[in-house]
Formats: sequence, structure tokens, C-alpha cells
Amino acid sequence: MKKRDSQLYEINAIGIIPCAAQVASPNQDDRPNQCDVDSAAIDMVVIHNISLPPKQYGGNGITELFTNQLNPDEHPYYADIYTAKVSSHFLIRRDGALIQFVPCAKRAWHAGISKWKNRERCNDFSIGIELEGCDFEEFEAVQYKVLNALLQSLKSTYPIQYVVGHSDIAPGRKTDPGPFFNWSKVAEKQIN
Ligand SMILES: [Zn+2]
Repeated sequence: MKKRDSQLYEINAIGIIPCAAQVASPNQDDRPNQCDVDSAAIDMVVIHNISLPPKQYGGNGITELFTNQLNPDEHPYYADIYTAKVSSHFLIRRDGALIQFVPCAKRAWHAGISKWKNRERCNDFSIGIELEGCDFEEFEAVQYKVLNALLQSLKSTYPIQYVVGHSDIAPGRKTDPGPFFNWSKVAEKQIN
């Protein structure tokens, strides 16, 4: 997937980016009552990191986790998480490849128990973006490049007010995107 910097990712009516690789996750459902604007408007992006096995890149573990196909015998860490029903809307791999698991119009299961400005269940009103990485090393420049283009496209489509880290909405429980995630490289950063 190649794109010019100035070019936005096209987002269709149900929130699919056709030029992203599409891997459908069963771990999704409807967002809450769309009439209840306060709780249902998509106004937040949550940034995460993930690597499976931990600190190893390029394998199929993330895709397998998000599609409930992780093999518990493949790695000791998998035995603890293979039954988790989780997903994210997007994954940005180390090489900048963009993968979409859930249409933005649907609720992905990435935030867990979470709270932001007195609103709980952040999955209801957020879009989840995973960067392939960990809490212990720098992310790749191309990942920031794709992230910024993706954020710009999302903000042109949805009334995004907050771009936050998982650790911002689940402090004490989650640490990602971690100390090596460089917020100053996020052009669309908006934590109010
Ligand atoms: Zn996370």
C-alpha cells in the first residue's frame, strides 16, 4: 500500500478503509444507541501497542488473537491470552502496513474497563489503533507516518476530539502505548 503524504485514506460509509488489508474480527458488535449522541458519537481515538509473542515482530500472533485463532501451544504467553475476545479497528505493523479488523461504525473490543472525562466503556465511542511494538523500544518512523495519515482521515470523517493512549483511559491497568511512544510525532494529538 503506497500513498502520498497529502492524500487521505478513503473511508467508506461503514468506516472501512478499502486500501487497508481487511481481516474481519468476530470480536465486534454494534455501538450503543446512535440516538444518544453524548454516549455514541465517535469522538475518541485510543492508541495501543501490541506484539505477539511479546517483543517479537512480524508474525501472525496479533491477527490470530484478533480472530480467535491463537494456538495456546505455540508460545507460553499465548496460553494466558488465547481465550481473550479482543480486537481493534486498526493495526499498523513495523513496516507501515495498515490492517483493519473492524469497520469504524462497529464497536471493537480494545479498551476494556476504561474511563475518560467521566465517561466509562470507551469502546462505545472510540476507534482503536494498535501499533506493532512494545513498552521497551522505539516505534518505526513509517508507523508514525501511517498513524498521522490515518488520524487525519479519521478526523475528516468523525468528530474526533481526543487522541489518547490506552494508559490514559485505564491508568494502573494498562501501560501502552508506553514510554517509547513519542507523542510529539503525532500531528493530530489532542488530549484536552
Ligand atoms: Zn492497549
